[in-house]
Order: sequence, then structure tokens, then C-alpha cells
Amino acid sequence: MHYYEDPQIALEFGSKDCNVLPRAQPNEKDNYVRDLQQDLNALGYTAGKADGWFGTRTMNVVRNFQADARDNLRCEQDSALGPGRRFAEAHPVYVGGVTGVVDTLTAGELQRWKQNRWQKPRPVIKYQQEDIRDRLPVNSQRNPRIRPLNDIERIVLHCTDAQPGWGAFQCAQYDIKPNHISQRGCPTITYAYFVNADGLVQKCLSRTVVSWHVGNWNYSSLAVVLAYRATGNQQPPPPAQIEAVSALFARICQQLTLDPRSNIVGHRELLGTGYHLGADGKKSYRKSCPGWKVDLDEFRQETGRLFESLTATAI
Ligand SMILES: [Zn+2]
Repeated sequence: MHYYEDPQIALEFGSKDCNVLPRAQPNEKDNYVRDLQQDLNALGYTAGKADGWFGTRTMNVVRNFQADARDNLRCEQDSALGPGRRFAEAHPVYVGGVTGVVDTLTAGELQRWKQNRWQKPRPVIKYQQEDIRDRLPVNSQRNPRIRPLNDIERIVLHCTDAQPGWGAFQCAQYDIKPNHISQRGCPTITYAYFVNADGLVQKCLSRTVVSWHVGNWNYSSLAVVLAYRATGNQQPPPPAQIEAVSALFARICQQLTLDPRSNIVGHRELLGTGYHLGADGKKSYRKSCPGWKVDLDEFRQETGRLFESLTATAI
């Protein structure tokens, strides 16, 4: 007998099957909680080792399941729904409580999930984004090149290396006037996305616009910048900023079919603009951008993990 087949059942914290299920046969004792734990694990929840003991971990996992089963659940992996559609639009809504107790309703819901092969929803990646494309100044004397999205092969991470307070508008002003890149100024701001220290992402350019950030690599590269003073800074960028830029990269990789572990680079990692190769084959860096305190390998790994958990579409 399975726990959901018994209408009397109410598995709760502290229960062990042999104590709470007097009707279980001797050779079935312990099976109820163990079956529950196995089912939860199979649904994508981490109930841990199926030991037949309803402890704190199992109770918390049951709560998580109940919360997911309520009407606020998104279920992007169900292709019939389409991305971002609410679970409740296509499936009956679980009306039980988030109690941690496996009552009849919860047991029934667990069974339905199992039969329909529904899985725990993966987290939806979020970051704050503001579109400032129309508000940034551009160089009226020059037009940027435009490319199809398919031609973007990588995302390049930069830092502004500017003092705090230097935002996207200051960058745009600097970039379109005569500067270290061009005596006539660049056509536009050099970055497609500007990521502020508090994690706010500002969209500065359409992705199809080719901006002037990495020399010969410009055409095939999308530019993202951290508002971060790298020079002389012993601190890495704040966690909120790194989390936001990682989420942004994961999202862009998803949309442009890029691989976060191989198509994300730091400015300093690009031959010519970031470093030179000596006759001995050794790298000599021209740039530290986006800063030596930004561990690019770790950033790629972290973004890769986020990427793999992605379920939602663009903001
Ligand atoms: Zn740079």
C-alpha cells in the first residue's frame, strides 16, 4: 500500500511509519514515509536519503512542494503552456495548505504530479532592467554598423574603471566626443548594457548595434560594463552587481544560443585589445578590464549554473 492510497493518512513531523500507520503490514512498515521521500526526490525535491523518518528536512520539503502546488506556480517546462504561463491556467489548483503535513489532499496532489511527470519548477532568474536607449546621447556625425543577432559570438565584460557616480550618461557623453578611441568620437556609447553597483541593469543599445569596445572584435561581440573602479581597488564588485550581471549574461546566452562557459570573456582575455602575445608565446596584458578582482573563470562557472536553471524568457 502506498501512502496516497490510504484515506486515513496524515504523515507529519516526527512520524515513523510503524508508529503512525497501525494498518500497515509488518513487512510494509516504514514504507509510507520512505515512499513519500522517494516520490519527492523523483519530483525534483531534495528530501535526502529515504530513511522512513519524517524529520525536519522531509517536513520542509513537503512544505516546499505544497507551496509550489498552489496557484502561484510557473511551469515553463510544460511546453503546452508556453513560457511564463501560470501552472494554474492548465491544471487544477491545489487548495490544500502549506502545512508540512501529508494529508489526503497533499497525498493526492503528489500522486497527480507523479502520474503527470510534473517536476519541481526551476527558479526564474530575475534582475532589474531599465531601457534607456532613447535617452542616451548619440554622435549625430556618425552611424553605427548594424549586424544580425546571429553574428554575435560572445559577450564581453568590461568595467568603467571610473569613480562612483559615473553612470551610463557620463559614459555616453565621453564615448561620443573625441576620446582615446577615436578623434571624431564613437557613434554611440560603447556598451550595450550598463550594470550599476546596486545591480540595476540599464539597456543602452540594441544588440544589433555594433559598438566600439574591443577593436577588431567589435562586430562579433556584445559589450556589457560594470560600473566599477578597478584601478587600485582591493575589493571585487559587490555581490548584487555580480549577481545581476551573471543573470543578465545567462539570459543573453539563452536568447542568442551562446554557451556561458565558452562565449563569455573579459576584455583582458581578447588578443590584441586585451593582451599581446610575445615572441616567447607569453601573454602581456594591455588591460586588466574588468579588473583583476573579477575572477572570470568563477564568473563563467556561476553563470553556467544559472544558465542551466533558466526557465523564463526575457524581461
Ligand atoms: Zn574594457
